[in-house]
Amino acid sequence: TVLNAYHELKAAGLVESFVGRGTIVLETEETDEGAGEVTDSASAPAPLYWKPMLTAKAAAESSSLIRDLLALPKRQDAVSFGVGVPLPEPELLEELQQMAGRLFTEDRGEVMLHSPVEGRASLRQALCDRMRDRGIRCPKEEVIVLSGAQQGLDLIARTLLSPGDCVLAEEPTYFSALQTFRAAGATVIGVPVDEDGRLRLDAMESLLRSYRPKFIYVIPSYQNPSGRLMDASVRESLLHLAYRYRTPIVEEDPYGELAYGEKSPLPIKAMDEHAHVLYIGTFSKLLGPGMRIGWIAAPKPILKVMGRMKQLNDLHTNSVAQKLLDAALREGAVDRHLARIRTLYRARRDEMCAALKRYAVPGMQWDVPMGGLFLWLRLPGGVNVQELAVRAADRGVDYIPGAPFFAEQPKGSYIRLNFARADIERIGEGIRRLCAAVEDAMEG
Ligand code: PMP
Repeated sequence: TVLNAYHELKAAGLVESFVGRGTIVLETEETDEGAGEVTDSASAPAPLYWKPMLTAKAAAESSSLIRDLLALPKRQDAVSFGVGVPLPEPELLEELQQMAGRLFTEDRGEVMLHSPVEGRASLRQALCDRMRDRGIRCPKEEVIVLSGAQQGLDLIARTLLSPGDCVLAEEPTYFSALQTFRAAGATVIGVPVDEDGRLRLDAMESLLRSYRPKFIYVIPSYQNPSGRLMDASVRESLLHLAYRYRTPIVEEDPYGELAYGEKSPLPIKAMDEHAHVLYIGTFSKLLGPGMRIGWIAAPKPILKVMGRMKQLNDLHTNSVAQKLLDAALREGAVDRHLARIRTLYRARRDEMCAALKRYAVPGMQWDVPMGGLFLWLRLPGGVNVQELAVRAADRGVDYIPGAPFFAEQPKGSYIRLNFARADIERIGEGIRRLCAAVEDAMEG
């Protein structure tokens, strides 16, 4: 209790510790000008100091990695392997433009009205039809349309996590999920993979036994950041562990349809016969994050509570986007786009792998991703990662550093490269620059 109180005070900037002097209460300008004080009406009003007004939770929030990276100055000719979303393709934009035009002219403004909190019935049905193609059978009553998958993570955190709870997640995993679960006061424990990148089910079981986590969080298909594909037998064993320990699985599947060879194995949700899996999907990676549409398919009792939480959060997902997506799904625009980008991204992936073979610095390691957007590159020992960030920016190439994706201390340095974003003619040059920057950043 004392430690928690101390952390809250520290997060609010009200105490500071000094080696040899202990912890002292700060007399900052901000605390002097405390909230709620009455000022002399004759004096000019002073700007309000907001810091002391923040809740401990708000004050403890650190800034977002992506926001910080986007804010960095870039060279004009930089090659971008950074941000984890693709760029819009012209054919898709053209089709959406025509559909949007019809939306605004044909339904006499209905598009501008409220939608039900769970989402428009017709879109929920279209999502169920799409999931059925991936082996998931669920009625539309078990689906809520979300304002992006991120909202699903937040709703799950707010519905299931209390301070002190624990979550098990693959190591590494999506950093924003780590942030969201931690913001709810939970501890995330990383479950290791073996040398072949297979989730260590023995470690999973012993962690389930010792920590009794609230849920297991996984991204089985073309994971962010590792690009890994969990094979069908591991999916099945994981589900059986979840049954045995009566622990829900939160399964995220933003990349499952982006397969460049064989289809990905069935989602865990498709095998679940005992209402253990909460499945989150999104169109951010197929169409673009600006759409802000995702969905969650989950057992009814928990979905009902999440619906109430969503209502507090945003009433409902944007009606215009829901109608547009519904039309795009029903008229086949999403599938046509998917077929095009599978070919396009596969070629970009091949180009990146060929360039890495050509330019790799000894000690670099990677697996060829079978789908998704990401190639996870292990750097040679002895690379100074801070130095690399500076050198890569100087040379005009960007990537996402690997450390924030780990719940525990990572063994080795990694970076995440999005192979799907850059023009194919520029990928080789980007990898050449990256490898040169890695050489510059080698210590000793
Ligand atoms: N989950 C995962 C695993 C992701 O990779 C991403 C995108 N970076 C998201 C959630 C966020 O998706 P959305 O834009 O739908 O909120």
